[in-house]
Amino acid sequence: MKATVSDCSSRYFEPGVGPAGRDLWQHETQPAQANACRHLPSVQKVLERLGAIPLPRPLVVKVVRTQLALARKSGSIPDQEQLVCQTRSALRDLERSRLQPVLNGTGIIIHTNLGRAPLGAAVLETFSRVGMGYSNLEYDLVTGERGARAEYVERALALLCRAEAATVVNNCAAALVLVLRHFTRRKREVLISRGELVQIGGGFRIPEILEASGARLREVGTTNKTSLQDYAKGIGPETGMLLKIHRSNFSMDGFVESCPTEALATLARRKRLPLVQDLGSGALLASETIPGLEHEPMPGEVLSHGADLVTFSGDKLLGGPQAGVLAGKAKLLSALKREPFFRALRCDKLILSALQATLELYLEGKAEYSLPVLGMLRVSVQELRSRAEKLKSELCELPLQMEIGEGRAQVGGGGLPKSSLASITLDCLPEKLKASELATRLRLGTPPVLGYVRGGRFKLDLRTIFPTQDKLLLEALKNALV
Ligand SMILES: *Cc1c(COP(=O)(O)O)cnc(C)c1O
Repeated sequence: MKATVSDCSSRYFEPGVGPAGRDLWQHETQPAQANACRHLPSVQKVLERLGAIPLPRPLVVKVVRTQLALARKSGSIPDQEQLVCQTRSALRDLERSRLQPVLNGTGIIIHTNLGRAPLGAAVLETFSRVGMGYSNLEYDLVTGERGARAEYVERALALLCRAEAATVVNNCAAALVLVLRHFTRRKREVLISRGELVQIGGGFRIPEILEASGARLREVGTTNKTSLQDYAKGIGPETGMLLKIHRSNFSMDGFVESCPTEALATLARRKRLPLVQDLGSGALLASETIPGLEHEPMPGEVLSHGADLVTFSGDKLLGGPQAGVLAGKAKLLSALKREPFFRALRCDKLILSALQATLELYLEGKAEYSLPVLGMLRVSVQELRSRAEKLKSELCELPLQMEIGEGRAQVGGGGLPKSSLASITLDCLPEKLKASELATRLRLGTPPVLGYVRGGRFKLDLRTIFPTQDKLLLEALKNALV
């Protein structure tokens, strides 16, 4: 609630003399004035009344014009005060849609809506050094000629995945589309268990991805049981590949059966078909060494069980930038990289530099301490509790009852659905507000703070809030409660 657009800073422009220049201003305002309804104020008038707005002027002008057009269309002409008020509210919404840091008190570590894996400082250092200037992105410094993009990253990935070769594209969905297009070009069918036709995130459904890539889906088995025989019976003259999808975001218990990679790989080899396994998260470190976590399939392990290729995300458990990794047989990877479509999916220098730095941390054995995702998974409950106590003591003067609660944090990002980590929450019961009202105020604050309401209390899980953000958190709580 504190984050109103009238809080001025140096970035706020002065009406009429802003940095975007008078030309644009005049160009934007003339037509509107020409058509303006007699009783509506001009664009310029509204802009003057708005005062300082922390957004680029062309965006502000556009919002003002839209609001004026809406008023004109509605027939009932609002008074000037009301119009300015509505416009200000539309501008505030626009400002909140701008990409910005938020404090994540949800306890979901790889939160897809909140940008998944936060990047470590070492990663950002490489990222900004490479991004700020020119780089040898596609230049071979040894020969002085054009070089291959991502060669170093590919080598590092292959080593970490214990694979013959590896490469990287924009995300795991892209990796899957590339694989499907390639292997189902001549023989259109892809064999997949009915138990694995899953939806991963918002709008990411395996059957839709298959269709989008031109492949024909051939379902085998049932929702709860798919045996090797089901796959064997399903293979026909039109089968181009076998696909196994890791049920990353849900689990099935009870009367269930799925076919292990080893058996499926033997069948695939006998039928001379590629077996691709989509892992989703793809842990490079054994997740079960972290208290509370189950085992998440590792790329090297799945390849050693006989899969020809694996695909996984760069920004889930790996803890790096958004990317889709493909690892496995060298012959298959070089064929995939020759696909014209590969060009449309390749990563840019920023992603590659961030991924390079991330992978080097793994190779140097520093990942656990340097990558935020792994750090948040490992931090102890005692450590969280002592932070909570300190925060609580600093908030004792606010109109708020605060208790230190015990919560469960989740890995998130569609991974390890059965796992959860013991965590510590700040449970807030405001004296004059409902918990949901406090949640709204914090969400609309600067920086936005997100938590969850449970049992009538607003809760902030400290596992996903960085210790360096504790000061900001205190400020945000104070601002929301005054
Ligand atoms: C998350 C996930 C994907 C999609 O990965 P993106 O990198 O978001 O494209 C694909 N498959 C599985 C099994 C996943 O869990």
